[in-house]
Amino acid sequence: MKILITPKSFKNYKEKTYPILQNLGCEIVENKTGRTLTEDEIIDIASQDVQGIIIGVDPLPKRVLESCKDLKAISKYGVGMDNIDLEAAEKLNIKVKNAVGSNNISVAELAIALIFEAARRVSVLGAGVRNGNWGRIAGVELTGKTIGIIGGGQIGKEVAKRAKGLCMEVLIYDPYYNDFEFLEKYGITLCDSLDKILSLSDIVSMHLPLTTDTKYIINTDTLKMMKPSAILINTSRGELVDEESLYTALKEKVIAFAAQDVFSKEPPSPDEKLLTLDNFILTPHAGAFTAEAVERMALYSTNNLVEMLNL
Ligand code: NAD
Repeated sequence: MKILITPKSFKNYKEKTYPILQNLGCEIVENKTGRTLTEDEIIDIASQDVQGIIIGVDPLPKRVLESCKDLKAISKYGVGMDNIDLEAAEKLNIKVKNAVGSNNISVAELAIALIFEAARRVSVLGAGVRNGNWGRIAGVELTGKTIGIIGGGQIGKEVAKRAKGLCMEVLIYDPYYNDFEFLEKYGITLCDSLDKILSLSDIVSMHLPLTTDTKYIINTDTLKMMKPSAILINTSRGELVDEESLYTALKEKVIAFAAQDVFSKEPPSPDEKLLTLDNFILTPHAGAFTAEAVERMALYSTNNLVEMLNL
């Protein structure tokens, strides 16, 4: 049985994961490009004989799934499944599972790091000193500020706990939320509308999936609901934010700062206008890229594949 493994960082844990698959009789096909595969490359590699894929952020639309004739299971190395056409997979009887709980702590910690970067400009100040500039930038304290978390799932909850530890007021907006014990335990308030959480929060951190309903949830209108001093953090998916509207909002100081780990096009093109703004902070989709999360993602996605293929 052939298994295609696409994520670059998976190789860091091949000593622990490959034997699991090889001892069960699997032949492993690696992504040797050193980058995300294109649709056509996946079709070239997996159209015949490949029965399982461990997938990163490489695209698996209907066209690709229909071409992979022997594919039985897709195991997501991570959580967000917006790169997989789940409806088509179901119709084609291809099982799909994600690595729930593998990277929530790492992404939450990056969100907190980005909040600090906006509040205290650590990397900008450090770069200034290296260049002989001893000048300071006035920051803001986080204590007593309100953070609005959009999406109270695995990552949102870890952000909420850490924000409470930083003495912040925590609000969550999530229309499907049901863990009321968690709210009570940590003293967190559930907001009943997006408008309300945006207008009440000093920091807005997004931890919801990208779906047809959530695409561009942050746009010109919703940006205007936020405080002029607000910091927007997006470690979820680029297309949750209309980047053109965000550019205008940052340039015209409708909000104070935005930080993104994710982009609608990754990597963003060098002429992406957001990259020219001082009040825009960015990282290269690094939320889950820690030693601990990478190991968990590799192990969970391997075990999920074994389970789905009944090996
Ligand atoms: P999760 O499924 O545990 O939580 C998502 C939450 O969003 C759920 O509670 C759901 O009810 C809520 N939600 C759905 N629609 C909503 C809406 N319209 N408004 C508000 N809330 C809504 O997922 P998670 O593990 O917390 O991950 C969240 C997202 O983070 C993923 O979908 C993925 O896109 C992204 N992610 C990014 C990285 C990274 O490296 N930057 C890594 C992992 C995950």
